[in-house]
Amino acid sequence: MTQAVVLFGSPGSGKGTQASLLKNCLKVPHISTGDMLREHIREGNALGVRVAATMHAGTLVRDEVVDQLVEARLAEADAQAGFILDGYPRTREQAEHLVGWLDSRGIRELVIHLIVDYNVIVTRLAGRRQCPRCGTLYNTLSNPSRVEGVCDLDGQALVVRDDDRESVIRQRLEEYESQSRPLIEFFREKGRHLVEIDASHETPEALLVQVCRTIGSLEAGGPCEPAVSAAE
Ligand code: ADP
Repeated sequence: MTQAVVLFGSPGSGKGTQASLLKNCLKVPHISTGDMLREHIREGNALGVRVAATMHAGTLVRDEVVDQLVEARLAEADAQAGFILDGYPRTREQAEHLVGWLDSRGIRELVIHLIVDYNVIVTRLAGRRQCPRCGTLYNTLSNPSRVEGVCDLDGQALVVRDDDRESVIRQRLEEYESQSRPLIEFFREKGRHLVEIDASHETPEALLVQVCRTIGSLEAGGPCEPAVSAAE
């Protein structure tokens, strides 16, 4: 059975952090459209050049572009047993595209909506730092690196993502409200499997336990051992 998990939530809801913990536990790839797009920008290829201005402004990249990116990624060998989608779908068109893709393959997904208070989100996004080499996320308030401004894993100087500047944060939250939040209703209307988890206050590790329990309670045997994975 293909294990398809869609992590859904506002920017700053912790989807990326949860996805990277969960991938160790489910042993399926973490597919983040944001990371894939940033990789194209880093490589400076044609797609990267096309999407750079849109991403820096905090608006959404065109549906056809991300739909194709995700479809190509899902066709890769490591995604055949399952995958965790992070940051996709974000619009109704993307959601319809994904649902069509899943249904045509008989794959039943689980959508996990991470619910976080607006004020918590703004604080989190403003404090976010990332390692430009390995992608590890930190937060100056809630999850600082051991040495300020330096990645624990590879010693690189941490950076503020271009789109974590205040004006851009506002734009990203507006995009979420107008384009992405309505998808919760879409998933409900279509009878998709949607679970909502309060993610405002828990540590990422405690949240992982809840996420794994949710997934485990849906599938006999329970797919993961969060205590081990969270410590990795
Ligand atoms: P966050 O969830 O914190 O906003 P992401 O890394 O998921 O961060 O996304 C960063 C940016 O990448 C978005 O603001 C948008 O420009 C682009 N992007 C990522 N995923 C999508 C998507 N599914 N559709 C359109 N644009 C996307």
